[in-house]
Amino acid sequence: MAVSELARTIIESPTLRLNEEARLLRERGEPVIHLGIGEPKNKTPIAAILASAAKLSQGDVKYCPTDGTPSLKKAIIRYTEEHYDKVVAPENVIVSAGAKQCIFNLLYCILNPQDEVVILAPYWVSYPEMVKMCYGVPVVVTPEDGTFHPRMADIERVVGSNTKAIIINSPNNPSGIVYREEFIAQIIDFCERKKIYVIMDDIYHKLVFDGKRAPSAYQFTTRDLEDSRVLVINGIAKLYGMTGFRIGWCVAPRPLVQVRTNVQAQTTSCGSPVMQAGAEGALIGLQSMVEGLRLQIQNNRDVAMRELSSFNGVKTHKPDGTFYCLPDFRAYSGDSVELSRFLLKKALVVTVPGREFGMEGHLRLSFAGSVKDVTEGIARIKWALDPTSPNDIYIGDKKLIRDWL
Ligand code: PMP
Repeated sequence: MAVSELARTIIESPTLRLNEEARLLRERGEPVIHLGIGEPKNKTPIAAILASAAKLSQGDVKYCPTDGTPSLKKAIIRYTEEHYDKVVAPENVIVSAGAKQCIFNLLYCILNPQDEVVILAPYWVSYPEMVKMCYGVPVVVTPEDGTFHPRMADIERVVGSNTKAIIINSPNNPSGIVYREEFIAQIIDFCERKKIYVIMDDIYHKLVFDGKRAPSAYQFTTRDLEDSRVLVINGIAKLYGMTGFRIGWCVAPRPLVQVRTNVQAQTTSCGSPVMQAGAEGALIGLQSMVEGLRLQIQNNRDVAMRELSSFNGVKTHKPDGTFYCLPDFRAYSGDSVELSRFLLKKALVVTVPGREFGMEGHLRLSFAGSVKDVTEGIARIKWALDPTSPNDIYIGDKKLIRDWL
């Protein structure tokens, strides 16, 4: 089949592929535990359901403004003021089909062919592919072994005349690390001096534990928004567990929002007004569920850390946020793709290979599911890998004997 050279180079989304594999195994009745999942299990907040149902029941679902419905934009402006202490205008906000589309469209609007985008490992799998899809060049900066905190000196070393942007994702998928305030301050100062865009992927910024806060980039820019290089991406997917609504937004200087609007107008026209009504409902509705969800995930994080600490040979950093951790499994295998496959085959546990995030030898484990899934999933991994664990285990109603260690 004739496909473009560019399209041929774009890899499949490993997390979506794993979701599909897990779904097929479950359909066959296999008791799979999915520790690869990137979404909380909660039900959609009632305010979001009622708001989208109200829009739908009017029977008047038509095109709406390309950059988002005025009332959703108003709710986003209020959110930005409340959580970022930043007053922005409607012309600074554009709504898209998820944070994912926001980031892609933004890259599409700022990159010329061969422009470079700095990406900090471990990184979200989609960043390098999105950059390539915009004819840009991803430049990966890897931290010192054993840490997930990037070093400013390493970033400065790779920045050159072709560098157009840097993507910062903190709290970070896949490590759960929140970057330090000094680092965010340094990067904002550096990028503003060098006229490099800082794309802050803040999709997890409210999912932070132990009373910590993810620093906001706006704290560190001395410039007016119109003159700033800071571009902030956010959405409802992780905060409210509303992944299927596909609503995200970007806050940026007006001229960039205008160009983004033109691009969006020629591609998707606008987001669905039903889903935008739902997003607005969530943003202006009761926020107690957000705190409930955060506490539940923090508890799951503690359970995951406790279970992993019983392992011989696994090194792990305690996540400050998100619902992921990225333990180092190099004591068992240096090939994370092989290891992940092995665990799915032998222990029916889905994990995501660290190689996909630029961190070979690690596995990303999600603790977004139930405590039972987290406990049992890690117990199965331990059984499959650690010779000090008992030789047999029940998976579903089958007793399995380990015969490979
Ligand atoms: N950024 C990061 C770091 C993510 O983990 C995800 C979702 N996995 C997204 C963006 C995309 O979010 P959305 O579902 O709103 O497109």
